[in-house]
Amino acid sequence: MGNNSNNSRRSFIRKIVGSGLAAGFSAAALPSMATTLVRSHQPLAAEKIPYTQTPLPYGYKALEPAIDAMTMQIHYAKHAAAYAKSLDEAVKEEHVDITTMSLEDVLANTAKFSEKMRNNAGGHYNHEFFWKSMGRSGNSQPSAALFQAIEKDFGSFDAFKIQFTDAGKNRFGSGWAWLVIAPDKKLAVGSSPNQSNPLMATSDLKGIPLLGLDVWEHAYYLKYQNRRPDYINAWWSVVNWDTVQRRFDAQ
Ligand code: MN
Repeated sequence: MGNNSNNSRRSFIRKIVGSGLAAGFSAAALPSMATTLVRSHQPLAAEKIPYTQTPLPYGYKALEPAIDAMTMQIHYAKHAAAYAKSLDEAVKEEHVDITTMSLEDVLANTAKFSEKMRNNAGGHYNHEFFWKSMGRSGNSQPSAALFQAIEKDFGSFDAFKIQFTDAGKNRFGSGWAWLVIAPDKKLAVGSSPNQSNPLMATSDLKGIPLLGLDVWEHAYYLKYQNRRPDYINAWWSVVNWDTVQRRFDAQ
């Protein structure tokens, strides 16, 4: 294990600095160049997403009627499981040392990896983040600091919900709607295509994710067919604002 780990780390560093070598950097520059990886913002430790799929924090039926049990089961056990499996393959193929590089750091550096890594690191992260964003907390809105920040940056909580709903409705094809803390420290709403994520340096929408909504058809088609807006409207009732608030408070 120890040797494998060391070999993986060296392979990974070679991969990361490969472009630098091609550009004429000397070998002596290697150690410092290896530290030029983009480090993502460090979220609350409890919110860091592991590389493997974690148990769903509630039963498949828990979010009914907003999200039906069959959709949850297929989504979690088939779609999301496939991302986790393919991420595991990509990590091995591309010699990422997961003991020294967090999934958040992989996301911040997806430009240095394959398309397979980007799609599956994003897909796995997004789904783990999504499951944890839901569950009945008993609160239909955040409290205290986050609520005030939303009012400040969007005008009102309802205005924020409309903007977020529109981001999800208007995302063409497959993707995600997000509430993030943008680089300017303000809250922002937007969407990302496919399995992109705001932590990716390549993402148009950048920031620390606080809330994410899957608007791929597989997330709602069994119950809502083509009615994505109905799915989004129902989804608001199962947002776990305690979790979103905790993510905000951790920053
Ligand atoms: Mn999905």
